Amino acid sequence: MKQFEDLPAKITHPADPAHELNLTDGVPFVCDGCKEPGCGPRYTHDYGSHSFDLHTCCALAKGTMRHPLFGDLAFEFRTKPPPPVDDTICDACGEAARGFVYHCSKKGGLDLHPCCASLPERILQDSRVFELRREASRSRPCGMCGEQSGRRRRFWAYRSNLDGEAMDIHVACMKEMARLSWQAAYQNRVGGGQIVQVSVSDMDRMLQSFPGNRARRSGLDKFVKIIGTVASIIIAVIFGNPVAMMAAIAGPGGLLRG
Ligand SMILES: [Zn+2]
Ligand SMILES: [Zn+2]
Ligand SMILES: [Zn+2]
Repeated sequence: MKQFEDLPAKITHPADPAHELNLTDGVPFVCDGCKEPGCGPRYTHDYGSHSFDLHTCCALAKGTMRHPLFGDLAFEFRTKPPPPVDDTICDACGEAARGFVYHCSKKGGLDLHPCCASLPERILQDSRVFELRREASRSRPCGMCGEQSGRRRRFWAYRSNLDGEAMDIHVACMKEMARLSWQAAYQNRVGGGQIVQVSVSDMDRMLQSFPGNRARRSGLDKFVKIIGTVASIIIAVIFGNPVAMMAAIAGPGGLLRG
């Protein structure tokens, strides 16, 4: 996988300056940078009783960045959000931001987990486009939770079309769903990029709430598969695994089966 090969095999990082960090893959982990769950490639130093782990996007974060959703606003990388740290949430996924963030002091303060900041602006899947938006629409239900109001609406969503009917998918919903399988895997310390994937039956169950015309059921089934693949890509990025972006689409255990 090209993106994995492009990463340096060893780095030194100010967060653990005494040790080289090695690029590795395997068990699910908690990133010691952003404090968020991870799965897939990571930079690590093994202390024996525990390890120091960083998402690759956290380890290789740039000093400043601009994000396509925020135009000219400049974000600055920080090892912690500015105080009060305990109140800080990621403006992409809506979850707590307690460690590494990209911070912008404008607009009342914006913070992004480094992995969330690396979500693709658009995903093309089976000739359908999913476009990243800063918030979900009031008039479109989320394809996963079925809600069109509530707290999650205020955070990032991917927008697409189902036979003329618009649909948003909350990034927060995908993260929450994947976190459940991540937690089980983390407790058992069993590994593999497969952990953070969405099964077609998961997706199907969640899409039951979509208020589409039942007569278009066959079209919906196809759309469920497409969303499943797109969700796998998004989840992989949120958990710090750009490799799975390709694997989820092409892999034998991927969502294109059946
Ligand atoms: Zn991280
Ligand atoms: Zn986030
Ligand atoms: Zn939702």
